Amino acid sequence: MMYDYLIVGSGLFGATFAYKARQMGRTCLVVERRKHLGGNVYCENVEGINVHRYGAHIFHTNNQQVWQFVNSLTPFNRYTNSPLANYHGRLYNLPFNMNTFHQLWGVTTPQQAHDKIEQQRAEAMRKLGGRQPSNLEEQALVLVGQDIFDILIREYTEKQWGRACNELPPFIIRRLPLRFTYDNNYFNDSYQGIPTGGYNVLIDRLLEGVDAITDTDFFNSPYRQWRQYARRLVYTGPLDRYFDYRLGRLDWRTVTFKTRVEPVANYQGNAVVNYTSADVPFTRIIEHKHFETFGDEIYENPCTVVSEEYPAEYREGMEPYYPVNDKRGDQLAAQYRQLAQQEPDVIFGGRLAEYRYYDMAPVIELALNHPAHSS
Ligand SMILES: Cc1cc2nc3c(=O)[nH]c(=O)nc-3n(C[C@H](O)[C@H](O)[C@H](O)COP(=O)(O)OP(=O)(O)OC[C@H]3O[C@@H](n4cnc5c(N)ncnc54)[C@H](O)[C@@H]3O)c2cc1C
Repeated sequence: MMYDYLIVGSGLFGATFAYKARQMGRTCLVVERRKHLGGNVYCENVEGINVHRYGAHIFHTNNQQVWQFVNSLTPFNRYTNSPLANYHGRLYNLPFNMNTFHQLWGVTTPQQAHDKIEQQRAEAMRKLGGRQPSNLEEQALVLVGQDIFDILIREYTEKQWGRACNELPPFIIRRLPLRFTYDNNYFNDSYQGIPTGGYNVLIDRLLEGVDAITDTDFFNSPYRQWRQYARRLVYTGPLDRYFDYRLGRLDWRTVTFKTRVEPVANYQGNAVVNYTSADVPFTRIIEHKHFETFGDEIYENPCTVVSEEYPAEYREGMEPYYPVNDKRGDQLAAQYRQLAQQEPDVIFGGRLAEYRYYDMAPVIELALNHPAHSS
């Protein structure tokens, strides 16, 4: 059969594109390299708990169209991301807000917190003597002062990047928002939550009625001759791979996970706890059941699943997670994008094919409103 679209990759871009194309009366065949559909939002069921196998995914957006769209497929729950930081056994609320300032200094009013931070920022600026921050450490100090930097930023950032803060460029931290209210909600967006039943339900709804093949790498399969199967190609795999790396390889950052079952109903009392000190090798522990169960429901399952997160240097064969948007990465990606423009029947979409970090909501928005649907 001749399809309208052959879609490489079943992540949110591919699946949303297929959903909309089908609504517009078009036919799609999805080809997925992994053994399962869903890309990075895929969850594995372990002991009755949806485990976010490719990293914790929290849906958040200000876009009402996207929010209504995803909720029309499966209603989202009331999960609100309010992470904690653990520094040598003491807990601090994130993002930096009045609760954090109280935990740091015992202050209780916004004015007291403001005065404390301004005093420390002024000290950092005095040390710079009028010059611009030349590294991440100096940049962070002028933004939030010494105490927040020492307890919540320095060692955590060094674990993430594998380099000292005074050797990292300042642009990595452009802003460090400070909130002078007692508000632990990490996101400022109007809408957030987790799909009821987990992300796999969302993907199943998106791909309902769409032909999909798993465990098949596009490049090592007959589908590489895609014109025999479809009129157009939607490609959501890595941009450089499509062009056989002919201009060189794009760099990625990645993380690895150590996941285990714990024989307790409630391990850490929160979905996300960051470990900000250097003596702990991982950066975060995720306790997956807290994304989907609340209050007494937590105790209905006597065990829990936790994942430790370790930053890692990207090597061939690992999961490419975050594009490295340094000068080389941006220039090389721009060159590849020029090559992509010369492929009129191919749509490059999503985080891998565009080499851009996208949250989930923008990916859905792009796939839903893609100009191809109206051509
Ligand atoms: C660690 C991490 C945490 C994140 N947390 C959040 C969060 O909390 N909130 C949020 O909004 N966003 C989050 N994101 C972003 C979110 O993951 C992306 O927005 C989303 O996954 C993008 O979907 P996609 O379809 O572009 O890519 P993907 O989900 O990566 O899908 C691409 C698919 O293409 C397949 N593929 C690739 N090459 C081939 C090939 N040759 N043949 C066949 N198939 C192929 C892959 O196997 C994959 O299934 C996070 C990202 C990461 C890396």
